[in-house]
Amino acid sequence: MIRVTVWNEYAHERSDEKVKEIYPNGIHGAIADFLKSDDIEVRCATLDDEECGLTKEVLDNTDVLLWWGHMCHNKVAMRVRDAVLEGMGAIFLHSAHHSKPFRFLMGTSCNLGWREDGDLERVWISKPSHPIVQGIDRYFEIPHEEMYGEPFVIPEPDETVFISWYEGGNVFRSGVTYHRGAGKIFYFQNGHEAYPNYYDKNVLQVIKNAVHWAYNPNKVVMDCWQQVVPAEKIEGYDPSKA
Ligand code: ZN
Repeated sequence: MIRVTVWNEYAHERSDEKVKEIYPNGIHGAIADFLKSDDIEVRCATLDDEECGLTKEVLDNTDVLLWWGHMCHNKVAMRVRDAVLEGMGAIFLHSAHHSKPFRFLMGTSCNLGWREDGDLERVWISKPSHPIVQGIDRYFEIPHEEMYGEPFVIPEPDETVFISWYEGGNVFRSGVTYHRGAGKIFYFQNGHEAYPNYYDKNVLQVIKNAVHWAYNPNKVVMDCWQQVVPAEKIEGYDPSKA
């Protein structure tokens, strides 16, 4: 079983009637409903839950975390970053490019250009052999999506899995992967709250593939600051004097 936690800011679905109509149970609800299966166990957490719903216990029992939205408290964000470094997978969706955990993990501003005009988006696969794109054609189209455009201020990705073209002429590295510590990270552009794109079969397939890709059964605790006992005998070595 892969233990997934879907974290959502859960603000637009409560404050905006149009968004509420599209996602009556929240964006997290739509994603969780699709992901639940024989080999994936899903729980949800939102910003208003105590400690943003991400206590140490929740993170210790999460194999892959999905993140929608850019708000969260610093303390919890550092905890999420540390959990990734120890091997928890993390999938950052849409505006999560500006979330604190993502920016802590990237070390850059993660700024980008954007336009909310319902552009057609054509999502091209740039790495056909990658596990995240399996079951997807050479490209797929999203009839309406918020445009995110280059330059996207991220470190050079380990892999660029998708590149998107928008009706207005912009392009964007819309699916990128990173390794940080023992954790795998995937950023995926799709999913502005005003469009029903978390019901799109390609978008959902990508997210499910990414859950399997990001899963690491071998979490580790990064304990590198302890004094190291020599593996070989060192003449005159006295650990109490080191
Ligand atoms: Zn958006």
